[in-house]
Amino acid sequence: MHPDQVDFQQLKERVSIEQVLSHYDLRLKPAGSGTLRGPCPLPTHTSRASTDSFSVQLGWNVWSCHSASCMAARQGRVGGNVLDLVAALERCSLRQAGMCLQNWFGAAASRLAPMHHAPATPDLTNPPLRFRLHNIDCEHPYLTQRGISLATAHTFGVGLYPGPGFLAGRLVVPIHDHSGQLIAYAGRSTGEQPKYRFPAGFRKSQVLFNFHRAIHTGTNHTILVEGFFDTMKVHQAGHRNVVALMGSTFSRRQSDLLTGHFQSLILLLDGDPVGRQAADLIIQSLQSKMPVQRIDLRHGRQPDQMRPAEIRALLG
Ligand SMILES: [Zn+2]
Repeated sequence: MHPDQVDFQQLKERVSIEQVLSHYDLRLKPAGSGTLRGPCPLPTHTSRASTDSFSVQLGWNVWSCHSASCMAARQGRVGGNVLDLVAALERCSLRQAGMCLQNWFGAAASRLAPMHHAPATPDLTNPPLRFRLHNIDCEHPYLTQRGISLATAHTFGVGLYPGPGFLAGRLVVPIHDHSGQLIAYAGRSTGEQPKYRFPAGFRKSQVLFNFHRAIHTGTNHTILVEGFFDTMKVHQAGHRNVVALMGSTFSRRQSDLLTGHFQSLILLLDGDPVGRQAADLIIQSLQSKMPVQRIDLRHGRQPDQMRPAEIRALLG
């Protein structure tokens, strides 16, 4: 196809609203089955009274804002598709919006299978990412401060991202699925809150961080920690069979990943009430499926703050 030609139908079917939201660094909250909700990002939205009026139906790949100001600007229509969304955000024509989508996602969009509309159950997998960040600085001093060696930073691909967008100036951590496909970047500020940013719609519960590396270490047991830095520190201490929850909640999918690939588990969660409670629940859920050894850290201790020798002493 000539680059100036736009296949509207194909773009509408193959570019998801979630991709557009991440392109604009717009993060909405899950609000029930297949729905995301949050503050309206449109320039036509002038009402200050209506908060969280913007919603997305993932299955239908449509969005809406029911505030009077936004609906008036659209002659009474409550929302639309991906093209309408970009046209509203960019204040441009549908044709120009199509050109934008083509430029941002075009090559990938034409390779992808069409999305299935209105699935009976929402698809919970995280699709492979369609871009790569470049010029990630693995030598940033923040990593050294946190005790991460250059070799570890290279292995995990973490570093400061100097480029544009919602990860600008953040420490980025590439996240892969079980088969090693890149599915997201988490971005950590090196200072202010909130600590981590995940792309809109990213489902942490469907993934274990570092799982694709851990299953190739040739061991039949694995170590489960909470966070990215815990993982890197345990890896750096010589235990490469380590995976992380990316939080303290444990899903059915994560349980299946562990029991499907490993014969036993060592739990090394944070030494705080949240970590202890998570450990209780994980043991409860896994006890009939695999042996679990639990290591309780002293109050206030976390693996990411520990020296390699301390970690080795704990893990034997
Ligand atoms: Zn609005």
